[in-house]
Amino acid sequence: MTREKEIYKVTLVGGVANLLLVGFKFIAGTVGHSGAMLADAVHSLSDFLTDVVVLIFVGISAKPQDESHDFGHGKFETIATLFIGLALVAAALGIVVSGAGKLAAWLQGESLPSPGKIALWGALVSIVVKELLYQYTAIKGRKLESKAVVANAWHHRSDSLSSIGCAIGIGGAIFLGDRWTVLDPLASIVVGAMLVKVAWDLLVPSVGELTEQSLPDSTEKEIMGLIESVEGVCQPHNLRTRRIGNRIAAEVHIRLDGAMTLNEAHEKASAIERLFKGRFGNNAHIIIHMEPKK
Ligand SMILES: [Zn+2]
Ligand SMILES: [Zn+2]
Repeated sequence: MTREKEIYKVTLVGGVANLLLVGFKFIAGTVGHSGAMLADAVHSLSDFLTDVVVLIFVGISAKPQDESHDFGHGKFETIATLFIGLALVAAALGIVVSGAGKLAAWLQGESLPSPGKIALWGALVSIVVKELLYQYTAIKGRKLESKAVVANAWHHRSDSLSSIGCAIGIGGAIFLGDRWTVLDPLASIVVGAMLVKVAWDLLVPSVGELTEQSLPDSTEKEIMGLIESVEGVCQPHNLRTRRIGNRIAAEVHIRLDGAMTLNEAHEKASAIERLFKGRFGNNAHIIIHMEPKK
């Protein structure tokens, strides 16, 4: 199997597991009347949608440029991620508001219903499944040397931590007696707040990319270093960079000896292009403007 296919398979396994968890948790949360379990279900739903974006849109993003999209289709993935982030913010705020409503009712002396045991089972199954997914994905990620896969593994582990929080809240609400039923909405507020963070981490880079945010300083310095490493090329300036989905694009001015022939100058520019694509991938995009050295 090629590396791409292996990565695809690991993502697919995580996606199917997330989908099964979504179904199970929504049933457990609804039947068990647990706000915490429903909040955890929404989290799994957002994870599943993110997997779908990775599986579908990475394919679209990889589609080469055509007449209607000269820079390729990378931003389809970014737009999809932005929408997931926005939907998630709305869902997360809904969860927090609903949890806070129950908390306020409890503070005013109202008694809250105790969640059913099935809600607790939802959390326990989720902890086990997510920990297994963490182990599986981390092993694959290290074997494939893929940062994205390793990051996904850590996401699975953070999901299992979130489910542990749910299990404590739901378990406490069930077993500690009527006074502690408030633990369920408290857990849902915590999970909702964690979801806001997940959404934020999706939104910030997407908005940055859609507004043509420059690449980080360290990457720009690295690009300048590559350019200066070509003999005879000096004073690179006016570097402009941006991200287009999973590829990057750069424009830069360089200075060359004015007496150089066009053949030689073209060879210098091609050497920079080769270094650039060697470092940032074959579909990375660079335009070089040449000026005579003063
Ligand atoms: Zn998650
Ligand atoms: Zn210039």
